[in-house]
Amino acid sequence: MLNVIPIAEALSLVLRQFGNNTGRVEKVGLQYAPGRYLGEDVTAPEDVPAFDRSTVDGFAVRSSDLRGCSDAIPAILEKTGKSLMGQPYEKPLLPGECVYVPTGGAVPPEADAMEMIEYTEPLGGTQFAFFRPVAPGENLILRGEDLREGETILHSGRNLGSADIGTLAAIGITEVPVFCQPVVGIISTGDELVPPDEPLNPGQIRDVNSDMLRAAVEQVNGIAVKRGIVEDDYDALMEACNELLPMVDVLLVSGGTSMGEQDNMPKIVAEMGEMLVHGLAVKPGKPTIIGDVGGKAVFGLPGNPVAAFFIFDYLVKPLLLALQSGEAVTHPVEARLTRAVSSNHGREEFILVRLNGSEAEPVPSKSGLISTVSRANAYFVIPRDQEGLPKGALVHVTRL
Ligand code: AMP
Ligand code: MG
Repeated sequence: MLNVIPIAEALSLVLRQFGNNTGRVEKVGLQYAPGRYLGEDVTAPEDVPAFDRSTVDGFAVRSSDLRGCSDAIPAILEKTGKSLMGQPYEKPLLPGECVYVPTGGAVPPEADAMEMIEYTEPLGGTQFAFFRPVAPGENLILRGEDLREGETILHSGRNLGSADIGTLAAIGITEVPVFCQPVVGIISTGDELVPPDEPLNPGQIRDVNSDMLRAAVEQVNGIAVKRGIVEDDYDALMEACNELLPMVDVLLVSGGTSMGEQDNMPKIVAEMGEMLVHGLAVKPGKPTIIGDVGGKAVFGLPGNPVAAFFIFDYLVKPLLLALQSGEAVTHPVEARLTRAVSSNHGREEFILVRLNGSEAEPVPSKSGLISTVSRANAYFVIPRDQEGLPKGALVHVTRL
């Protein structure tokens, strides 16, 4: 008999025991930063924009020069030049003068507003008529309005998206401090397994977990080291674990975690380090092992691919996020069941659903059929002692 514990307890244990961010930070070029987690606060080294900019095509003016002008009584100003992109007009604007500035161009000193070109008319020579007054500051982005020098723009731990990359480019930060990616070793064990690119002999099945877990690791920005298939042999599995462990932060071994004769993981984890958990009170996912080998997390995941998928999502993914200082928590959303679901009692149960707006449609899933997970896009957990849930029940679903 396995001494089973609830999954929430297992999750807090995993995060407590292994989730302290090591704080290892590296610098990567901007092109490698998307999806990574920022390793320190980023402050603006300079004002952005670095000069007052126009938001329209038109003329930089002193707003006081246009006071009271109208279609009937235009103001007449003298155009003294242009402020072109990258070649600003640097002389201060004197009363009665205007300077042409395109959108985004620098507004000259002493100008305090932009008049849109639509409200002006050339009068021949350098004279222009202005038909509409402007308020001070109108049609301008002021120096430092986007970012002020010294202002913290992006906080440590932020998962960098494309807008953040743009912000970093705007302030000239091209070497970005990010938390190091956790390295995760992946082993599949089972005498019946063959690699996905090989034909099947009778009784054999394809190794689903190696590629699935690699994808899952990479989706949360980890580096996967795939060792491949190892037979159900104590020595062979021990050797594979020993070979991988020095190179990784976390080791995932799927299969061979139960109490059967061929199941070597319980013995191996106990031999190499400390077995923290053997058995989770959840369906699917009961034969799960959590071990500590020299401070590194070793997970024995169930061979059943659906169970391995759920346990990864529930336990391993939060750890990999915590190790990168990302948020370890998922954000469940509320939805209503479109059909009743039944559950066996005594264990919590992962239920797959298709989430459509605020409706959750249960996806029937037989143990081990990974394609059922592909048909779903979210899941929720039925509590341990609940026999089932009626149609319309409110559930908290986690997106996949
Ligand atoms: P085990 O956890 O080794 O008892 O395996 C449980 C079930 O999952 C068995 O039906 C195995 O054939 C299957 N299984 C184990 N490992 C894998 C794998 N890597 N890919 C697909 N199925 C697997
Ligand atoms: Mg097996």
